[in-house]
Amino acid sequence: MIFKRNLKKIKEKLEKDKKAVEAELEKIAQKDENLEGDWDSKFPKFNGGSASQTHEEGADEVEEYATRLSIEYSLESRLKDINSALEKISKNKYGLCEKCGKKIEKERLKAFPEARTCAKCKV
Ligand SMILES: [Zn+2]
Repeated sequence: MIFKRNLKKIKEKLEKDKKAVEAELEKIAQKDENLEGDWDSKFPKFNGGSASQTHEEGADEVEEYATRLSIEYSLESRLKDINSALEKISKNKYGLCEKCGKKIEKERLKAFPEARTCAKCKV
């Protein structure tokens, strides 16, 4: 297998990326203890949620929450891709396109070690 030589490096990079993504998630979200790999966004409280809160502050919170949700979503899906890539490495199935089953281009894996598909099948 052509990747064998690089596989250790790729695995190390994926594990490093995984830690970085998890650290980012921890800042904005709470890990769901019941569901592995799932995170819930923390709702920001700018004014301690007190009754004196203005409408503007309330709107800021909602906006901030929406931003967090979208960041959380992209981090979470990246984390899933990383985990799935790590799983494939352990099953010796790493580097194959999930759609056409062909080998994913080496250059693509270099740039996106967590890629699930080859460049042709990429959406
Ligand atoms: Zn493909």
